[in-house]
Amino acid sequence: MNTIDLRSDTVSHPTPAMREAMAKAAVGDDVYHDDPTVNQLEADAAELLGKEAAVFVSSGTQGNLCALLAHCGRGESILIGDTSHIFRYEQGGMAQLGGILPHTVPVQTNGTLCLDDLQAAINPDDEHMPITSLVAIENTHNAAGGLPLSAEYSAQVADFARCNGLRFHIDGARIFNAAAAFDVEAKSLAEGADSLTFCLSKGLCAPVGSVLVGDAAFIRRARRARKVLGGSMRQAGILAAAGLIAMHEMRLRLRDDHDNAQLLAEGLSEIPGLCVMSQNTNFVYFSLDDSAGVNPIELAKTLRDDHQILISPYGGEQGQFRLRTHYWIDRAAIDKVVRVVGALLS
Ligand SMILES: *Cc1c(COP(=O)(O)O)cnc(C)c1O
Repeated sequence: MNTIDLRSDTVSHPTPAMREAMAKAAVGDDVYHDDPTVNQLEADAAELLGKEAAVFVSSGTQGNLCALLAHCGRGESILIGDTSHIFRYEQGGMAQLGGILPHTVPVQTNGTLCLDDLQAAINPDDEHMPITSLVAIENTHNAAGGLPLSAEYSAQVADFARCNGLRFHIDGARIFNAAAAFDVEAKSLAEGADSLTFCLSKGLCAPVGSVLVGDAAFIRRARRARKVLGGSMRQAGILAAAGLIAMHEMRLRLRDDHDNAQLLAEGLSEIPGLCVMSQNTNFVYFSLDDSAGVNPIELAKTLRDDHQILISPYGGEQGQFRLRTHYWIDRAAIDKVVRVVGALLS
């Protein structure tokens, strides 16, 4: 990729090793549980996250929806962050397709949900009210700027869920970025959770796919949900082959993306007129102030047209940008971005 695409880590392409593994993958009909590569991906994912079983799904959105459909009945209510991906960016699938009611609580600036807020949001046993049945958190937290949530925090939520008879789901789309940030095994972040979804695409570079993990009975229900959503695939081993490399190899290099994000943030922060708002894991946010003397839309356009550098305007507020590092962004790319943006703002 000659283009330096920092819009998201979702733009990452599969690696040459993935393409080769995909071409050679042993396959079968996965709806009959006959695909050896999918079976291996699911077994390995379950082990890596410390759960009994797993199911391969087409996307993080589908994984989260299968989880909620498997955990909750119609008319039940879940506790969820007000800026969470599940609530904001998945079309309200839980309500649209599952009759599940989201009860939002504020996401704190550190990406957590406050336990007191959660406690206060549980409905009493009252026939006027929906039954509260689940709590969900997000790790790393997308809207909070890619912040990782610690194993200690996860354990507190698990405790809270257990004490209140709730199920506990983690939207761990980037759980391995969180694990890399704390230098811990991902399973320590999933301990006490009833289920977790993670993405094989994004920073892990697989072209397609996510995995949902949980106990065996839960995964059987999630498979039913996947089927009715049209998500059961046949010779999906072609995709799982890339997923295995994502999970076993690409997972181990996410630290490089975090280091590159830090370098990028440091380089950009030296540029007058530009303010780095935050850098966590592989996310960098910056804004332009009036002294920059450059229109933000123009900046993005010039970067794209003249320098093949793609960045995302963010948040609707003029002058804010979101950048995400990934496998295809190396040190040389970081240096170029800092140099070019510095020159354009001088
Ligand atoms: C990307 C993402 C998802 C799922 O997205 P898909 O595009 O459906 O794979 C879910 N949660 C979070 C926090 C995400 O960043």
